[in-house]
Amino acid sequence: MKFKVDKDACICCGACAAICEEVFEINDDEGYAIAKDVEITEEIKNDAINAMEGCPTSAISKCDEKEA
Ligand code: SF4
Repeated sequence: MKFKVDKDACICCGACAAICEEVFEINDDEGYAIAKDVEITEEIKNDAINAMEGCPTSAISKCDEKEA
């Protein structure tokens, strides 16, 4: 499992990074969130899904490894 952020939908609120900093971070240059290229372990999976579901603009989605 991987996650991706639609930067056109991201409003740079930082919520995802606050909920799951292991996976999401705010891109310093442009301000929107990015999903790190990390393995989604069982330990961080729930936080990552909570971050996805908590995104106010639904900018985060799951994707296949190949799409990431
Ligand atoms: S929670 Fe959604 S809108 Fe907020 S920074 Fe993350 S991806 Fe962007």
